[in-house]
Amino acid sequence: NTPVVSNFIRSAIDADLASGKHQRTVTRFPPEPNGYLHVGHAKSICLNFGIKEDYKARGLASECNLRFDDTNPEKESEEYALSIQEDVHWLGYEWDGQVRWASDYFEQLYQYAEELIGKGLAYVCELNGEQMREYRGDFGTPGKNSPFRERSVEENLALFRAMRAGEFADGSKTLRLKIDMASPNLNMRDPVIYRIRRAHHIRTGDAWCIYPMYDYTHCISDALEGITHSLCTLEFADHRPLYDWVLDHISIDCHPQQIEFSRLELLYALTSKRKLNQLVSEGKVSGWDDPRMPTVSGMRRRGYSPAGIRLFAERCGISKSENVIDYAVLEGAVRETLEAEAPRVMAVLDPIKVTLSNFEPGVSGSRSAPFHPHHPEFGEREVPLAATLYIDRDDFAEVPPPGWQRLTLGGEVRLRYSYVIKCDEVIKDADGRVVELICSLDPATLGQNPVGRKVKGVIHWVSAEHSVAAEVRLYDRLFTVERPDAVRGEDGQYLDFVQFLNPESFKTVTAHVEAAVQGAAPETRYQFERLGYFVTDRRDHVPGSKLVFNRTVGLKDSWAK
Ligand code: ATP
Ligand code: MG
Ligand code: MG
Repeated sequence: NTPVVSNFIRSAIDADLASGKHQRTVTRFPPEPNGYLHVGHAKSICLNFGIKEDYKARGLASECNLRFDDTNPEKESEEYALSIQEDVHWLGYEWDGQVRWASDYFEQLYQYAEELIGKGLAYVCELNGEQMREYRGDFGTPGKNSPFRERSVEENLALFRAMRAGEFADGSKTLRLKIDMASPNLNMRDPVIYRIRRAHHIRTGDAWCIYPMYDYTHCISDALEGITHSLCTLEFADHRPLYDWVLDHISIDCHPQQIEFSRLELLYALTSKRKLNQLVSEGKVSGWDDPRMPTVSGMRRRGYSPAGIRLFAERCGISKSENVIDYAVLEGAVRETLEAEAPRVMAVLDPIKVTLSNFEPGVSGSRSAPFHPHHPEFGEREVPLAATLYIDRDDFAEVPPPGWQRLTLGGEVRLRYSYVIKCDEVIKDADGRVVELICSLDPATLGQNPVGRKVKGVIHWVSAEHSVAAEVRLYDRLFTVERPDAVRGEDGQYLDFVQFLNPESFKTVTAHVEAAVQGAAPETRYQFERLGYFVTDRRDHVPGSKLVFNRTVGLKDSWAK
C-alpha cells in the first residue's frame, strides 16, 4: 500500500470533515461518452476513486460514482460508454451503485428549468448563434440585453413547453438564464441552458428534442447524487459562479463544492479525445487501442499495468499549477512496477547465428534458471544449450569500441546461465555482413568462474532448436515534437499535428524467444533480459500457435535529451 500523498483537495476535504460539514466524501468521475479515455482521464479517475478508497480506509462510508455526461447526442455512442466502463474497471476501481447518466435526470432538469422560468430567472430567446455572440460582448466590453429578455413568465413557460413538444425548428430558440449581461465573467452573461436539437440519443432515443447544456446539467446532476466535492479541471474555474448560481436558485438541498485542479499534459502525446479521434478516423493509428496511443486502452495493449498508471498519476500530483509531464515519468512508473511483477526470459530480436564448435550432446551441460531473481515463487525453467544459438547483433563487434565487454573476434563473453564462450571465427556474406560466428565454449565455466582470467561481459542468447519464433512489435514515440498540437505556422495558425507523426514509431521483427513463453495467455508481461518489458498482444497473440509481443518499455530511459 502506497502512503497517501496529501494535496490541497484532500486538505479541503479534511477541513469539511473536521468542521462537521460532511461525514463522508462522495466524488464522481463524469466523462462524456464521446471517445476513449486517455491518460488525463486516468489522472482524474485516480483522484476521484482514490479519495473514496482512502477515506473508506479511514472508516468513512465514502463513495465514488461513474456518471456519463451524455448531453451531446450526436457525438456519443454506446461503444465509447462501454470502453470507458471497461477502462475504469481495468484500472482497478469500482463505482458505487449503477452507472449513472445525466440523461437519467432529463425530466428533473426540465422541471428545474420550469422553476427558474417561474421565478423570472430564465427566458426563451430567439437570437441566433451569431447574434448571440454579438450581444454577449467581450472581455472588457459589457454585453447587451437580448430583446427577448423581458417576456412574461407565462409566455416563457408556454414557449418552453412548446420547445419540448417539438413545435419549433432546431436552433430557432434557446432557454437562457437571466443573470447579468454586464458581468465581467462571460459565463454569467445569460448562458444558454437548453437548445433544440432533433438528435437520436443513445439512452433516451427520440424522447427529447431539447437538450440541456453542460453547465446547467453538471451542477444539478452532482447535487442530485449528493456529491460532496465536485473535482474538475482548471478551465472550469470560470464556470464555478454559474455552478453555484444554478444551485442557489432552484429548490435543491445539496450544494456540492466545485474544486479545480490542473489538467495533465503529457509531452509527445495528445490529451484530447477530439484529437485522438482524428488519428483514429484518419487511419494514422490502428485504432483507439493502438499501443502508441496515450489512451487507457492503448497503454493497456502496450503492456502498461494498472499499478504503473496509478503510480504515475500519484507522481503527477494534484495542484493548480501547470502539470506538464515528460513521457519518461510515465515510462519510469511503468518500468518500476513491472520490475517486480514480470518474469524474465531471454529473447533475441536481431539474431546472429552462433555455432559452438566443441558442443558435445550429453556432455555439455545446461542449467535451470529462476524466472525472477527475487521471486523464487515464480519458479524456474531449464535453459537448454545446443550447437546452434542466436545472439543479438548488438552484442558482437568486429572492431570493438573502447571498454567493450561483449563479444568480439578472439574475445570471451559469458552466455547468461551457461558457459563462457570465445569467438574464433567470423563468417560474412558477399556484402560483408556478419552471418555467423564460430565459437568454442570453455567446459570448466558452467556455473563457475574461468580459471586465471576475468570475463566481465554477460549476454543473452537462445538455442536455435529450443526457442520459438515470435512476432515482436517495436513501438517508439508517436510524435517527433513535444507539443504536436501547439506548433504554429508562419501565418500564426496551428499546424495539423498529423505532420509531426513519427514515421519510425512502429516496426515489426521476428524474434527467437525461449520456449517457456509458448503457452502464455494474451496480456502476459515479461522482461526479455537486457532488452526491456514485453507483453503478449491482447488481440493478436494466440498461445501455442501465433506468438505476438509488444514492446512495452525499454529497461533504461531512452527519452533523455
Ligand atoms: P477531452 O477534451 O479529452 O474530451 P474532457 O475534459 O472534455 O477531455 P470529459 O469526458 O469531460 O473529457 O472528462 C471527464 C473528466 O476527466 C473531467 O472531470 C475532466 O476534467 C477530466 N479530465 C479530462 N482530461 C483531463 C486531463 N488532461 N487531466 C486531468 N483531468 C482530465
Ligand atoms: Mg467535458
Ligand atoms: Mg471534451
